[in-house]
Amino acid sequence: MKTLLNVMEQVNNRNAGEREFHQAVREVLESLEPVLEKHPEYVKAGIVERIVEPERQIMFRVPWVDDTGIVQVNRGFRVQFNSAIGPYKGGLRFHPSVNLGIIKFLGFEQIFKNSLTGLPMGGGKGGSDFDPKGKSDGEIMRFCQSFMTELYRHIGEDTDVPAGDIGVGGREIGYMFGQYKKIRNQFTGVLTGKGLTWGGSLVRTEATGYGLCYFVDEMIKAKGKSFKGASVVISGSGNVAIYAAEKVYQLGGKVVALSDSNGYIYDADGVKLDTVKRIKEIERKRISDYTKIHADAKYFDGFRGIWTVKCDIALPSATQNELDEDAAKALVANGCFAVGEGANMPSTPEAIEIFHKNKVLFAPGKAANAGGVATSGLEMSQNSIRYQWSFEEVDEKLKNIMANIYKNASETARAYGLEDNLVAGANIAGFLKVANAMLALGV
Ligand code: NDP
Repeated sequence: MKTLLNVMEQVNNRNAGEREFHQAVREVLESLEPVLEKHPEYVKAGIVERIVEPERQIMFRVPWVDDTGIVQVNRGFRVQFNSAIGPYKGGLRFHPSVNLGIIKFLGFEQIFKNSLTGLPMGGGKGGSDFDPKGKSDGEIMRFCQSFMTELYRHIGEDTDVPAGDIGVGGREIGYMFGQYKKIRNQFTGVLTGKGLTWGGSLVRTEATGYGLCYFVDEMIKAKGKSFKGASVVISGSGNVAIYAAEKVYQLGGKVVALSDSNGYIYDADGVKLDTVKRIKEIERKRISDYTKIHADAKYFDGFRGIWTVKCDIALPSATQNELDEDAAKALVANGCFAVGEGANMPSTPEAIEIFHKNKVLFAPGKAANAGGVATSGLEMSQNSIRYQWSFEEVDEKLKNIMANIYKNASETARAYGLEDNLVAGANIAGFLKVANAMLALGV
């Protein structure tokens, strides 16, 4: 369709070199042709042209002093992509690979993901090219304080509410929230992922991983399958991977492999999560240390090899484009019947094509990992009413939200004649709500 081709061309030209952003936009636009045919009013109102252009992009200097007294300078970002259905909402990523294109791809995906949750949240994302690895606690604190010293003027509980992402967990959220509170003299729900004694929500830590399994469970249940007795491979060993693994065990499956950016471990008896939590969450060490404690387990260098491990279900939960065409072929050859994306855009377009062709049930990240931001939305609600719900209450709400997202994505796919294509179903369902709001709000 001409409109979509023109928009894609303009995105490529206007955002030259931003590969991940182009990839994320292309995937959504590819789903929208039947929608625009049915809704000429979206074309007339320039909804697609507007939705691919962030409302605001902020880039700033983040100077901080390291432990040797030397001044270091990083770059900070916040992309406020779309606020049609609520305040901007999306995580902050601290990783050396961060650049404007990566933040834009994540912010763009966030628009549709947040829409799918059914909660009133717009899309945004931010971060820095700061590398938290190997930094002391003092360095992390000084960096976070400097980052917030600029960011505070752009955010607020009704404007933009950041959360964590790669490299940003409870510790970093704490230092940033502390700095915001100091500067503004306000105790408000301006960040989510807060500690339980200072405004956080129960289940937020577990939410993305748990939510991923709830979604995948719905998807495989619809085809008469379950986690019971299934072998599961999960990439990454961070927040998403660890709590996905925890839920896999609760649902009766067995996790046989986990990874980090250096390599992966294979434990045929099932990975012992207590050990992984201690190594990664408390000691902040490498996944290779696992084999020092469990001698029967094996460690392999290189994180990509994890997809050659035989499994029934694969949950890529590390980073974008970590699962390519060859990895998808290896999974199919080994009999994997379902893939659920815990990370954002972990599968390349070629890999997704292989899954669809081979009838592997495929849950796209936009839908499957929305449990994190959904629970952040629940944290915002609790902050607004100054109350804390119990673990069971939040977990129940999370479960319902994930089941609704699955239902919405699969029914939308069916309504557009694309049965079982949850990529298209999620893109279209997420888009419709935002597009209708944009229409109602005027240009
Ligand atoms: P963490 O920082 O807690 O963990 C990230 C994990 O992925 C680590 O094991 C890390 O290994 C690995 N990793 C990071 N970068 C790479 C890379 N370039 N290659 C290989 N492995 C890598 O992050 P999260 O678990 O929070 O996030 C993981 C993914 O889930 C991201 O795509 C994120 O955007 C997405 N996500 C997170 C949500 C959340 O609530 N946290 C919500 C929705 C999506 P190492 O330690 O070696 O760097």
